[in-house]
Amino acid sequence: MLNADRIVHGLDGDLLHELYSPPEIQKRVSAMARELSSRFRGEPTVAVCVLRGAVFFFSDLVRQLQIPDLKLDFVGLSSYGAEQESSGRVDVTRWLSLDVADANVIIVEDIVDTGLSMRTLMERLNGASPRSCTLCALIDKTAHRTCKVDVDYACFRVSDGFFVGYGLDFAQKYRHFPGIYELERSEQ
Ligand code: 5GP
Ligand code: MG
Repeated sequence: MLNADRIVHGLDGDLLHELYSPPEIQKRVSAMARELSSRFRGEPTVAVCVLRGAVFFFSDLVRQLQIPDLKLDFVGLSSYGAEQESSGRVDVTRWLSLDVADANVIIVEDIVDTGLSMRTLMERLNGASPRSCTLCALIDKTAHRTCKVDVDYACFRVSDGFFVGYGLDFAQKYRHFPGIYELERSEQ
């Protein structure tokens, strides 16, 4: 159900229906940070940002983690091109720089949709022998799951829709918008 009270006008007639405001997002991110901190506080841990959609989620999350032995790394995956549907193929565009052997790895991902991206990443990560691997998603989108992946922590669970803002783009647009919005494209 779209909230008609909170509509932002995007480019080319797009309408952005705000689902989660910046304070709502921060509340969920802080709660996740507390859980992760109590779980990994005394252990070597590497938080891995999945570029580019998770960029703001990652930066807000890791700055609240109370894990002294925490390192940060980045991977790049690409599956969408300029479309709203996954292409069904995942390209690794950037791989880890750090050695994660014997560290707890926290993967920080924007959206788990079909699960293909995360399955691809986890399979490759397992080859790097981490002590553990925990998947944190901003949004767990469940309607189109085709690969079994365990989303250990999610800020929000939704069934379906296409979302932009807070790092999420549509054809590179709307990443910098502060809330999370469902995109309604204008008829062209
Ligand atoms: P997968 O289908 O492999 O689970 O998801 C692939 C990627 O598609 C996600 O990591 C995310 O970057 C992107 N994606 C999935 N759903 C959405 C969405 O609603 N909005 C945006 N902007 N990206 C999405
Ligand atoms: Mg992604």
